[in-house]
Amino acid sequence: MDRRLYSPRYVREILDRYGFRFSRGLGQNFLVDGNIVKGICRAGEITKEDYVLEIGPGLGTMTEEIGLNAKKVVAVELDERLLPILDETLGGYDNIEIVHGDILKVNIEGIIEEKLGGGPIKVIANLPYYATTPIIARLIEEDLSIDTIIVMVQEEVADRIVADPGNRRYGSLSVFVNFYAYPEIVMDVPRTVFMPQPNVDSAVMKLKLKQELPKVNREIFFKVVRSAFGKRRKTILNSLSSGELNLKKKDIRKVLEAADIPPNKRAEDLKVEHFAKISKILPLLDI
Ligand code: SAM
Repeated sequence: MDRRLYSPRYVREILDRYGFRFSRGLGQNFLVDGNIVKGICRAGEITKEDYVLEIGPGLGTMTEEIGLNAKKVVAVELDERLLPILDETLGGYDNIEIVHGDILKVNIEGIIEEKLGGGPIKVIANLPYYATTPIIARLIEEDLSIDTIIVMVQEEVADRIVADPGNRRYGSLSVFVNFYAYPEIVMDVPRTVFMPQPNVDSAVMKLKLKQELPKVNREIFFKVVRSAFGKRRKTILNSLSSGELNLKKKDIRKVLEAADIPPNKRAEDLKVEHFAKISKILPLLDI
C-alpha cells in the first residue's frame, strides 16, 4: 500500500477531494511529518503483541503507523465527516477498526473487553487541546486496563505535568497525574509539523500508569490537594484551613504535626506522599 498519509501534498489533495474544512472547535490540527508520527509510535514501543486505542485519528496518519506495528488498533473519532475519509485511507488494513464517538462518552471498558483483547492496552492520542485535561483524567481515573498512554499535549501543559515540587509550574495538575502515573516528556514537537499550524508548540508525553496507587481515600486526597493549591502562595496551614476543607487551624496544626510537615510549608513544596499522609491522618482525628 502506498504510504503517504503524512505528505502535506496528499493531505491537501484528500481534503480538497472531500471538501473537508478543519474544525477549530474539535482541535483539528493534523500531523504532516513522518518523523514525528514514527517517533510517537517508537515512544510507545509498539510491538505485534500490543492492542492500542487511538483517540482522534483525524485522517488516519498515526493510525496507519500504529496499525503497521501493533496487533490491533481501535481508533475513536468524533467527527462524522472523517469517517468516509478514514474508510479510504485505512480500509486496506484488517487490524484497524474505527469507532465513531466521543472519547469522553464511549464505553472504553467495553471497547477494551470486546475489541482489544481485554487489556492491558496502550493508548495513543494527539489530543484536541480543548479537552486535554478531561480526556487524560478519564483515562487515568477510571481504573481501566491501560498500561501506557502516549499523548501529545500543549508544551505548557506537559511542563506543568512533569514539574517537580518547588518549580513555579508545579500545581494540582502535576499532583493529579503523578498520583496515577509516572509522566515523562519524550519529544518536543514544533507547531510547524501540523496542518493547519496551531498557535502553540506541543510535546509528546509518556504516562506509565502505576500498578499500585497510594492507599488513600481519593476523595479526601484530592480535596486536600485542591484546597492546598487554591491558595498556593499561602502556608499549608492557612490554605487547608480555608477553601474546600474549611477546618479549624488548631486541627490542621495537629494533622500537620502528625504528618511531620512543617506548617509554614506551601503546597508547591509538597509531594504526592505528603498529600497522601495528610489525607490519611485527617479522618483519624476526632475533628
Ligand atoms: N491523530 C490525527 C493526527 O495526528 O493527525 C489528528 C489529531 S487532531 C489534533 C485531533 C483529532 O481528535 C481530530 O480528528 C478530532 O476530530 C478528534 N476529536 C476531537 N474531539 C474528540 C473527542 N471528544 N473524541 C474523539 N475524537 C475527538
